[in-house]
Amino acid sequence: MSAGIEVPTKFDRTSQLPASACPTCGKVLDAATGDAPKPSPGDFTICLCCAEPALFDDDLALGAPTGEEVEEFYAVPELARMQALAARRVRDQTP
Ligand SMILES: [Zn+2]
Repeated sequence: MSAGIEVPTKFDRTSQLPASACPTCGKVLDAATGDAPKPSPGDFTICLCCAEPALFDDDLALGAPTGEEVEEFYAVPELARMQALAARRVRDQTP
C-alpha cells in the first residue's frame, strides 16, 4: 500500500479555503476540488497553475512537500496521472 494517501474518486465538491499562495509558483489559491467537503491537513493537492504537488498544513494553507513526500505522491499511480493531466493543461494554456 502507498503510505495511506487517499485519492478522491470523483471531483464534485469545491470548497472555499483560506487564501494561500502555492509554494511553487506563488499563485494565490482559495478553493480546492475533490470528493470531500473540505481537504484535511496533510492532504495533497495539485496546483492548477503550475501543476506541482502541494500539501495542506494544519490551517489548510498550502505548504511545500518534502522530497520524501513528493516521492510518496508520485508513487501513487492515480496522483501521478492527475499531475500529468494538470501539467498538460498548464502547457496547453501557456501561450
Ligand atoms: Zn503553483
